Amino acid sequence: MTRVIFLDIDGVMNTLSTPVDAARGLTSLLLPRCVAALNQVVRATGAAVVVTSTWRLTMPLAELRAHFAAAGCVAEILDITPDLDAPRREREIAAWLAAQPEPPRAWCILDDDRDMGALADRLVSTDSHRGLGDHELPRVLALLTG
Ligand SMILES: [Mg+2]
Repeated sequence: MTRVIFLDIDGVMNTLSTPVDAARGLTSLLLPRCVAALNQVVRATGAAVVVTSTWRLTMPLAELRAHFAAAGCVAEILDITPDLDAPRREREIAAWLAAQPEPPRAWCILDDDRDMGALADRLVSTDSHRGLGDHELPRVLALLTG
């Protein structure tokens, strides 16, 4: 299987102060500079995205895909993690991994939440006031290519 990025949205693809544009919805919360950083990772590694954000609970996968595409994201939005009602997102990621016929070649977690329990060594935490950018890329690339 391919390389996988488990992707949160709020605080990763936007910042705490990003206003939502009602007409564009989630697309407006995928900031161009954060999308550019994600695209850079995807182009370098071929990684696909599995959405972990609670946004996955409010819209179907096809709609998530449409928003990412509209925002210029080149990543394949492969899937979403299961909703286990878990306060701990790493349990949902672990469940997704356990359900795959074969494990990803490499994977990492992008989230502004710093608590990933047993999966902490795969987490690249973003600053929720800044979102994904150059600062995080070396570690993301290392986890996805190592
Ligand atoms: Mg978040």
